[in-house]
Amino acid sequence: MNANPIVGHGTPLAAWQACPLLAQLPRIEVDRLVPTGARAVIVAPHPDDEVLGSGGLLQHLITLGRPVLLVAVTDGTASHPGSQRWPVARLGTERPLESAEALRRLGADTEQLSWLRVGLDDSQVPAARTQLQAFLQAHLQPDDVVFATWRHDGHCDHEAVGEASRAAAEAVGACCHEVPIWTWHWARPQDPRVPWQRARKIALSPAMVARKRHAAQAFTSQLEGDAAIGLAPVLPPDVLERLLQPFEVVFL
Ligand SMILES: [Zn+2]
Repeated sequence: MNANPIVGHGTPLAAWQACPLLAQLPRIEVDRLVPTGARAVIVAPHPDDEVLGSGGLLQHLITLGRPVLLVAVTDGTASHPGSQRWPVARLGTERPLESAEALRRLGADTEQLSWLRVGLDDSQVPAARTQLQAFLQAHLQPDDVVFATWRHDGHCDHEAVGEASRAAAEAVGACCHEVPIWTWHWARPQDPRVPWQRARKIALSPAMVARKRHAAQAFTSQLEGDAAIGLAPVLPPDVLERLLQPFEVVFL
């Protein structure tokens, strides 16, 4: 990644809501995406990506009774640089707990959902890509359906997770789909950099969106910045709302 494209408030929700291309994306049903007998593996660069990108998908998987493996790549300790309110040690403890609470709010129980923490350093995943790929290869099975952040999502960790997941899935013969998260921030409606031909929509009911919103509220650290050092929250209300559309998108 070159310059950081995740600056400012990004493309407003209203612009996406008015985007015909997005409105007309073909839908895909989750029981087709993750067929009976398959396990879904969600690879999250930071604690919150599993909910922001796939909180609706997760609810569908829970309802369908599919086994789910969540791979938490980092503990998200780089979200508040220089903050005394949210120092690295506090983030390293609290962000995984926030994830656990969010998953509980989505209805995930421990029988259906297993969880692996890789423990890589936040913002340093590109340098550990080979290590991550080896980790994933050791844990993936051929009939897994992997959901990773998109290789061109605009955050270096998201991109490295996308690349490592794709390579690992290919090596074991598993299927891998990609989830855009920060894309909604930097991309524009009709943006030619987005692979719209590969994009499919997973529809979410109003109740599922409400649950996803409730789950996202568990990420207290991300909803708060640090006023003492002028640090804005990672997830201000408009950024969060943009991720709470009545659908989620996957790139097949
Ligand atoms: Zn992230």
